[in-house]
Amino acid sequence: MHATDSLMFITSRPEVTFVRGEGSWLFDAEGRRYLDFIQGWAVNCLGHSPRVIVDALAAQAAKVLNVSPAYYNEPMRKLAARLAELSGMEKVFFTNSGAEASEGAIKLARKWGSLKRNGAYEILTFENAFHGRTLATMSASGKPQWDHLYEPKIPGFRKLPVNEIEAVRAAIGPRTVAVMLEPIQGESGVVPFTPEFMKEVRKLTTEAGLLLILDEIQTGIGRTGKMFCWQHTGVQPEIMTLAKGLGGGVPLGALVAKESVACFEPGDQGGTCNGNPLMTAVGLAVVNEVSRPAFLEQVEDNGGYLMERLRAMSAALGLGEVRGQGLLVALELGKPFGSKVVDEALKRGLLVNSPRPGSLRFMPALNVTRPEIDAMLSTLETILKEET
Ligand SMILES: *Cc1c(COP(=O)(O)O)cnc(C)c1O
Repeated sequence: MHATDSLMFITSRPEVTFVRGEGSWLFDAEGRRYLDFIQGWAVNCLGHSPRVIVDALAAQAAKVLNVSPAYYNEPMRKLAARLAELSGMEKVFFTNSGAEASEGAIKLARKWGSLKRNGAYEILTFENAFHGRTLATMSASGKPQWDHLYEPKIPGFRKLPVNEIEAVRAAIGPRTVAVMLEPIQGESGVVPFTPEFMKEVRKLTTEAGLLLILDEIQTGIGRTGKMFCWQHTGVQPEIMTLAKGLGGGVPLGALVAKESVACFEPGDQGGTCNGNPLMTAVGLAVVNEVSRPAFLEQVEDNGGYLMERLRAMSAALGLGEVRGQGLLVALELGKPFGSKVVDEALKRGLLVNSPRPGSLRFMPALNVTRPEIDAMLSTLETILKEET
């Protein structure tokens, strides 16, 4: 049998083992190559094994891998300062995953509520939201499949419909401490909150004295053409979470907060490997590369190009809507055959994702090239023509 039989079954994986990656391409054990428009789930923002990350890892590994979270290390300090500078938010806590960053955001909001709002703890979240896979972040999420999983849930979350500001207004009460959302819901199929809603929810939370928490784990680090997605609307939160692209392929997340709400006291928050120099050195290399204005402009340009070409294809083949921003894009197929398209694409050497039965999601490397976008579209068009 296969060596993978020793792995706990948590998802059905195709019978392919990847052994090497380079930019937008992955290679399997048989030497076949695949054009990768998943990139570790919007993680490898600079593509597979980019020079800047390989160099940062090698240089830092030769210096020091890990001190204790109870001491400063150089990359940790530099990356925190860089994130503070780019976001205009003053305080950073590093994590090993996105879920841990979201969990930290929930803890910080509850702590702040206990100090500043008479013990208010309830966080308003949204239907179909995805904030991670710890118990609290699953409880905060609005994935219908999770409604009755791992009961009992962590109390203190209330799910509201997306983009309905009156529902938010009506839900605010004395126990409410924060509103938490993804500027574009990634896992639910690239569903954006409108700029109008974002501005209204900022106004509403400010007036009510509540925190706005933005989960930018998927949308942050240049994915939408700005360093952080909220920069498109100027709606700055009190708390923001990052992961995925921040590590460019290594496990790294961050909880970022305004100084006025960064109220953890010693002992409240921590973690053995949090902020370790090996991962934060990579994060620093990634952030320095992605934050270059020319880099972000190229994400915007290539995202626009991808969406324009997808819209033309959708019109020609009678498919549905194309949504997204920058290089986080979805195509509605109009029929629930997403997983069939994904399987067919794999056979033809293309990796794409179907977040819902009727849609496809594209999250290529942020430095994907036009010829690579064209190659993806050409393979996709062949498949869709056969299926429609
Ligand atoms: C991926 C993701 C998470 C969870 O991050 P992990 O690193 O998988 O724990 C949380 N929120 C959003 C919006 C995500 O896309």
